[in-house]
Amino acid sequence: MSSASIAERLQVQRERVAEAARRAGRAPEQVTLVAVSKKHPAAAIREAYAAGQRDFGENYVQELVAKAAELADCAEIRWHLIGHLQSNKARQIAGIVEQVHTVSSVKLARELNLRLEQKERESLDVLIHVNVSGEESKSGCQPEEARAILEAVGECPRLRAVGLMTMPPASEEAEDARPHFEALVALRDELGGPSVLPELSLGMSHDAEVAISAGSTMVRIGSAIFGARES
Ligand SMILES: *Cc1c(COP(=O)(O)O)cnc(C)c1O
Repeated sequence: MSSASIAERLQVQRERVAEAARRAGRAPEQVTLVAVSKKHPAAAIREAYAAGQRDFGENYVQELVAKAAELADCAEIRWHLIGHLQSNKARQIAGIVEQVHTVSSVKLARELNLRLEQKERESLDVLIHVNVSGEESKSGCQPEEARAILEAVGECPRLRAVGLMTMPPASEEAEDARPHFEALVALRDELGGPSVLPELSLGMSHDAEVAISAGSTMVRIGSAIFGARES
């Protein structure tokens, strides 16, 4: 990674996202840059926040809860949970997150709704995480389960289904992600199209351009902003 600061790398990613949107004939404001801060310290988030970033993505509940507490003074942060969520952890994030990108079961939707009621929180935006590639190791629901989950979310008064999310199989070649992104867009159309599900959470550091040309409205970019993570 270069010695550029987080603020500089963030600026590069903003321009990258805006340029990809324009090339796809879309307005740059139609694509939200979610800065994925997992495994990076709160100080790194603070730096990005000072540079104007507001949407942050985290994968792990414990890490998200700890960072949200540490960064309580950064009052405008919007936390996105982008990692797999177990039902028994829904309670911990119900008061914190702005969006959950990874609702993948009816059970989880109902549990989230219950926890929101207990926190007296009016509403939470959720995306249904779909495993469109069929890889067995991947989390997310099967495409044929998405409609039932969407209907279950519809019956949860505190949840608002806003879109779909997917994570294609890891690949060196960004274009390899395209068929998976397109499969998610096709599924979204089957489920009612953009008027029902306006958001598509697609794309990461290495394939953001492909995702935006396929219709992404939220790209989840980590390493290109914060640098490599320890694995
Ligand atoms: C880690 C992660 C990202 C960010 O990946 P980078 O390659 O670092 O940009 C995006 N989405 C999900 C679901 C992740 O787990």
